[in-house]
Amino acid sequence: MSPDEIFPIFFGTWVVLGIISFIIFFLGKNAQLKRKLWPPFVIGAGVLFIGFTSAMGFGGQALYIMIPAVVLITFLNLRSTKFCDSCGKTIINQNFLVKPEFCSKCGEKLQ
Ligand SMILES: [Zn+2]
Repeated sequence: MSPDEIFPIFFGTWVVLGIISFIIFFLGKNAQLKRKLWPPFVIGAGVLFIGFTSAMGFGGQALYIMIPAVVLITFLNLRSTKFCDSCGKTIINQNFLVKPEFCSKCGEKLQ
């Protein structure tokens, strides 16, 4: 497949994943379910991103930068996102480097 053919698939998959994640993580209120699905989702998105970009021809040496960058972003993403057990809200800390401690909606201490 040529990059021109891969790009619409990548874009379509990305949009579908975005919609699914929006429904589960932002409209959904089930903190336990979110906590279970978030790591595989974030890691899966990272793997998908690397897979598609290399399939589109951005492989080779660019991967030496991209893979650690994606791993780092995935790690920070997992660390800075918490789910409130009290109200079910997804809390993403604006500052990626700091773990959120309290729910921004109900004030409950986060685990
Ligand atoms: Zn809350």
